[in-house]
Amino acid sequence: MQRRDFLKLLSTIALCSPLASASKKNNKKITVVGAGIVGICIAHELSRLGQNVTIIDKSIPGSGTSGKSFNWVNATYPKKPYSYNYLSQLGLGAFNDLYKYIDFPSKWNGSLEWFVDTKKHKKLLDNVNQLLKYPSYSKHEIIDNLKASSFEPNIDFNKNNNIVYSIEDGAIDALKTIENLVARTSFNGGKVINNCTYQNSIYRNGKLSSINTSLGEIETNLIIFATGVDTNSLINKKVLREPTAGIIIKTKPYMNIINKIIVGPGIHIHQQSDGRLIIGEQDGAPENHKLRLEGYPSKFPSSMLANQHVNKILEQAKSFIKNMDEIEVESVDIGWRPLPLDGLPIIGYINSNQDSYLASMHSGISLGPIVGKIVAQEITENINNNLLKNFRPCRF
Ligand SMILES: Cc1cc2nc3c(=O)[nH]c(=O)nc-3n(C[C@H](O)[C@H](O)[C@H](O)COP(=O)(O)OP(=O)(O)OC[C@H]3O[C@@H](n4cnc5c(N)ncnc54)[C@H](O)[C@@H]3O)c2cc1C
Repeated sequence: MQRRDFLKLLSTIALCSPLASASKKNNKKITVVGAGIVGICIAHELSRLGQNVTIIDKSIPGSGTSGKSFNWVNATYPKKPYSYNYLSQLGLGAFNDLYKYIDFPSKWNGSLEWFVDTKKHKKLLDNVNQLLKYPSYSKHEIIDNLKASSFEPNIDFNKNNNIVYSIEDGAIDALKTIENLVARTSFNGGKVINNCTYQNSIYRNGKLSSINTSLGEIETNLIIFATGVDTNSLINKKVLREPTAGIIIKTKPYMNIINKIIVGPGIHIHQQSDGRLIIGEQDGAPENHKLRLEGYPSKFPSSMLANQHVNKILEQAKSFIKNMDEIEVESVDIGWRPLPLDGLPIIGYINSNQDSYLASMHSGISLGPIVGKIVAQEITENINNNLLKNFRPCRF
């Protein structure tokens, strides 16, 4: 091979390398605190752009809410106003982009949603109609019972002829996605440190120089909090309200009985491509369980209590889904939703020094990849992306 050709090849390889954008690198040492879906998406994008990034977690990646989520990716009607809905629409697209860098288990068959209660169902249809007035929206159709049954022969749609079909929705396996993003971030040169709890930030001469953690000091010029329900206490400001709990049941792999994401009476359910059914309860824990749920436990205090909940949820599922008799439950978890005070994502710098950044949101599974991209771009190019202008922390 001629030297000239070799150099050409070398430059092509450099362009294809995950570190190809290293020229944009600023000299900041960036630490992301929290390796849930939001934190790892940000760290992955930063590592892809050649930034000096470390991500720490007080436990292991995915051990917070992201590992106990229903994992539905959508841009449907509860995402309002339009700025939030539009970000969610971009969120759907960002998953396509993510396949360029990692493989992750996912299914993009859409969702079907209906209520038995006529008042609730009317409200659902009103909300969908409102969505159709936006300048853009993810594809929806109202379909009848016959069409819905042709998609889902195991489901009794209760003769409902106005079922909301959100065509572009999907579901991912969040834990596997996080696992693969961790591997990719390390491959790109990012550091991933488990069992490392952020304690406080250290300033020297008015500048952030490092953070104290349970494993010692980490040199840091920019800290990004992606700490889910722990955010208020860490940033010393109330931006989230009390989290609400949701129960998620995962079954052992089972024959294929469900094709889409089903949001039906009392429960929501989908089936992963590995055959596991993921089932969530529509209603949260009753108010009188407040004491039991103090400290946000992720497991039930006894298997008896867990079984009571599982039986109730499964009974509800079997009331409108056929062929579920042989399923075996693999795990039961309690997940805690990070809930911004006004329901909208909170993304941006939290101090005038611009050395502390926050990313916290309710629909983190749907938004993780798009938020990762935008945040990494803002930091790398030192710009304010207008897409986030309604979501800045300074609104509180
Ligand atoms: C039952 C349920 C169902 C849901 N269903 C959906 C859904 O279908 N679709 C959807 O889009 N969203 C859904 N959500 C919401 C979604 O799961 C969350 O928005 C998302 O997981 C939040 O991700 P995160 O990375 O912000 O937080 P987390 O996943 O909680 O990650 C935060 C991480 O920070 C770490 N951490 C905290 N404090 C420290 C510290 N001091 N030092 C170091 N590390 C620290 C924690 O260990 C944790 O790993 C659901 C939530 C629940 C509870």
